[in-house]
Parts: sequence; structure tokens; C-alpha cells
Amino acid sequence: MRIVLIGPPGVGKGTQAALLSRRLGIPHISTGDLFRDHVRRRTPLGRDAQRYLDAGELVPDHVTAGMVRRRLEEPDTARGFLLDGFPRTVRQARELSAILAETGAALDAVLELTAPEDVVVARLRGRGRPDDTEEVIRHRQTVYRRRTAPLLAHYAVLLLTVNAVGTVEDIGDRALTALADLSAGAAGAGAEDGAA
Ligand code: ADP
Repeated sequence: MRIVLIGPPGVGKGTQAALLSRRLGIPHISTGDLFRDHVRRRTPLGRDAQRYLDAGELVPDHVTAGMVRRRLEEPDTARGFLLDGFPRTVRQARELSAILAETGAALDAVLELTAPEDVVVARLRGRGRPDDTEEVIRHRQTVYRRRTAPLLAHYAVLLLTVNAVGTVEDIGDRALTALADLSAGAAGAGAEDGAA
């Protein structure tokens, strides 16, 4: 399966992506992790990206899309993937469709994780990553609302929305059920009922 995971910073995308990647046997590709790895290794891309990460701004689309394209060319993605943190803009979504279309592939599902903003902000405060200062956390939420939330309408037909308040296991089960309903729905009717 080719799945995109969407949700505000702090909603638990990374945690759920790791769980779903194990359960579904597909690689977890996090653009945030890829950027942080470049920064750590001090690559030219890492040097370009660092100031955006520190400020909670989006790294420019062409830099991000190029990095994702190279990652998706690796053979482990042949059976599918779970993209976490990409696309984050409608332009990146178009870019992703173009990358996939080159090999005749398409997305199967877009999984949206939702939680109230005060819950996600509280989680980020407790996490302590360098870009988890109060000001940068707030800014990342604003960037999400402005730049990424419009993607939900763009992906309306593929969208599965999962409540991300609860234990890690419960949320994972909800996501797996939504994905299973989707596969069942592809063969018949009734997929919408279980999606929300
Ligand atoms: P979070 O979900 O908490 O915002 P991520 O690890 O997904 O954390 O992203 C951290 C930072 O990496 C973002 O604030 C941004 O600077 C950069 N980044 C990650 N993915 C993208 C993307 N698709 N486009 C542009 N910048 C990105």
C-alpha cells in the first residue's frame, strides 16, 4: 500500500507511522527525519534546510521534492510506503503524483490523524526536540493550518480520518481498521461508514 499520513505537528504521526510500518511491512519515510539526518551529517542539503527547521518554516518545495524523489527510487518502496510529513503543501502533492505517475503508481490512502490543538501542543512541549520551543511550536501549528490543511480537500476521495486521542495501540488499531475497511470497500460498498 502507498499511504500518506497527515496531521498537525505533535499529533503522533511518527509514532503511528513506525507502528503501521511494522504491521503493514512497508517502509516509513519521514521527511523530518531525512532532513534531521542531513543536518547531522552536515550535507549541503542539510546546511540549506537547517534554518527552516530551526524556524519551523517549510523547507522550499524543490529541495524537499528532490529528496523525496531520490528516496522513492530506492527498491524497498516497490511494495509500498508510508509517507510521514510529505506532502505538506498542495504543490508537493502535485509533485508526488508526478513522481508516482512515472512508474504508473498512485496513492491508496491518505490517513489523517486528528486531535485538539491544546493536546498536540502539550505533547510537543514535553518532547524537547530543538525546534520544540514555545514560539516555534506555535508557528508550526500556524504553518500547518495555512499550508497543509488545504491538502485535506485536495485528497478528499482518498481521505481516512482517525481520532488520535488515546493509547498508541488503540490509535494504531483505528488506523488499521480504517485501512482494512478501505480494501474491503474497494471490492464492494460501505467503505465510508467506518472511515471517520
Ligand atoms: P513535526 O510534525 O513536529 O512538524 P517533522 O519532523 O515532520 O515534525 O518536521 C520538522 C521540520 O522539517 C518542519 O518544521 C519543516 O521545517 C521540515 N519539513 C518536514 N517535512 C517537510 C516538507 N514536506 N516540506 C517542507 N519542510 C518540511
